[in-house]
Amino acid sequence: MAPSTSPSASAVSSGHVLQLIRTGEATTRAEIGRLTGLSRPAVALRITELLACGLVTEGVPAPSSGGRPPGRLEFNAASGVVLSAVLGMSRSQVAVCDLAGRVLARTPGTPEVEHGPDTAVPWLLDTWARLLEFCDRSAGDVRGVGLGLPGTVEFAAGRSVASPVLTSWGGVEIGPMITKHHPVPVLIDNDVNAMALGERGAHYRDVDDLVFVKVSTGIGAGIISRGALLRGSLGAAGEIGHIPVCGGGGTPCRCGNTDCLEAVAGGSALIARLAEQHRKVSGVGELAALARDGDPAAVTLVREAGRRIGEVLAGAVNLLNPAVIVLGGDLARAYDPLLAGVREIVFQRSTALSTRRLQILPSRAGAEVGILGSATMVLDRILAPEAVDAALAEAAADRETHTAAGGQAAIT
Ligand SMILES: [Zn+2]
Repeated sequence: MAPSTSPSASAVSSGHVLQLIRTGEATTRAEIGRLTGLSRPAVALRITELLACGLVTEGVPAPSSGGRPPGRLEFNAASGVVLSAVLGMSRSQVAVCDLAGRVLARTPGTPEVEHGPDTAVPWLLDTWARLLEFCDRSAGDVRGVGLGLPGTVEFAAGRSVASPVLTSWGGVEIGPMITKHHPVPVLIDNDVNAMALGERGAHYRDVDDLVFVKVSTGIGAGIISRGALLRGSLGAAGEIGHIPVCGGGGTPCRCGNTDCLEAVAGGSALIARLAEQHRKVSGVGELAALARDGDPAAVTLVREAGRRIGEVLAGAVNLLNPAVIVLGGDLARAYDPLLAGVREIVFQRSTALSTRRLQILPSRAGAEVGILGSATMVLDRILAPEAVDAALAEAAADRETHTAAGGQAAIT
């Protein structure tokens, strides 16, 4: 039986065969033939191509019922690397990952993101160079780059949209600044979208409808619907931090509106409210730690913030019917009071059917969630069957050119 993505055997390319091997659906030539309907010579041709380019290796023989044991085919995740990063206003993560999305090396960092790409991108390139050296890999091994940026990103154009806190990034096309050094596909998305991909890839592969909510200094969401990121027409989907909530008292938001969720329930707002009670904390992390330790004022603030976030999420649940909502970001470390507030309102205000199987859970991917997601984003692109086929065709054309040039040289 042919897989659903490949309607007929003749349409099953080497890229499709790689996908079967990569996902573990088929690990021998016989299984590939059975799944795709390809003839034995056709399977052999595609495997030879994949072995030649190093994307597949022939592993330990599989147990066989008799005769010559069929070689087990394995995806060679070490045949290249991807560079991934998420930049944040207060914290960033940079990594080198293998082609299975496993982190080979990573480092936190604090580039001055607010100074714009002219400062942050060179810092990124330097950091990636150091990490590549650390894992004993070279720039020639890099197959793609995935980058998550704070704020709205026009995904297709690979540029950040100007925002009151990130004016210096507005309209700058980041891709060319990176491809100058790494001439490979460079994908740039909003940091929360990257986190949603990372969380799903690491822990919820079977969940097709998931909303990742980052609750930190600001608030944002990454929406996965029917297994794919929902970015909207320009990449602005998921900006739940700028949905107004009731009874905000006219609180001004950095976007220019008033009573936005972020202005009322974001980390900065809670820290300001604690300061009104003559309590000073250094940042959202410290506030979360206080709430986790049971400090009554911090618990009350975080629980109330949860209720406000729940108000907006109740609308999102009615609209999208997710199976899982994941709460991540620095404030989510005070998970108990935050969850209590969110659950209280979501289950009160969303429809019975939309919440029947809804789970609201803390992020399990932790600090690596953004870099895992940035890596997933670019791996999904470069290992898609069409991309693999295009790369194989290019490599074959290169070989032909070299052979022709070599032949000519021999004649003359
Ligand atoms: Zn706003």
